[in-house]
Amino acid sequence: MIDELKRRGIGMTSERTRTRLVERLRERGIRNEAVLEAIRATPRHLFVDEALASRAYDDTALPIGHGQTISQPYVVARMTEALLLDGVPERVLEIGTGSGYQAAILAQLVPEVYTIERIAFLARQAQRRLRELGYHNVRARLGDGYEGWASHGPFQGILLTAAPKTLPESLISQLAEGGRLVAPVGGRAGQELLLVRRINDGLQQQVLDQVSFVPMLGGLS
Ligand code: SAH
Repeated sequence: MIDELKRRGIGMTSERTRTRLVERLRERGIRNEAVLEAIRATPRHLFVDEALASRAYDDTALPIGHGQTISQPYVVARMTEALLLDGVPERVLEIGTGSGYQAAILAQLVPEVYTIERIAFLARQAQRRLRELGYHNVRARLGDGYEGWASHGPFQGILLTAAPKTLPESLISQLAEGGRLVAPVGGRAGQELLLVRRINDGLQQQVLDQVSFVPMLGGLS
């Protein structure tokens, strides 16, 4: 069990340190107060290895093992903000659970979160962590994100935290009318953070940023 003291943190992991991170995100242009509050309230130090806890509230990506990373808080905030721009989506699908941090942020902002991870160790660890921290509106499973989660779709929001070379048709097809998909797309040469909206059965696409995510890979590991 994660007790209250560990959750609140001490020293480098304290609420004061989190508030500093939120101020930095505000300076960088994040405006959605609900998103900023979710970041302030989330104990990121419990989503990384204890050896990295002192850097958990720096605005940087950090390794989480198996060659993967927990995303930079600014990028988490930017993607989440883009997802919420037209209002609060009822159901959100995340591809790439990783540490579970992005799912925890979403859990505080939308009613239902579904998240898929292809690496068994990370999927299990994140499931346990999210349960222990009390994020009970997240359903996490081991699987290949390229298949999506049709039985719970369509989703008003879809967020990819690993980069496919091109937008997967399968995921687009699980996006509800009026829904928004936020995803890094591209190869080693560079990725663009895309916002895709399904409007009147067509797709509208906008580039938000240049980003660098781990690749989205097929199959399980
Ligand atoms: N959202 C995560 C970031 C994790 S990094 C967090 O907040 O910590 C991206 C993750 O996507 C990695 O864990 C990687 O294993 C996973 N991934 C890559 N391809 C995938 C796929 N096809 N299906 C599901 N997960 C995938």
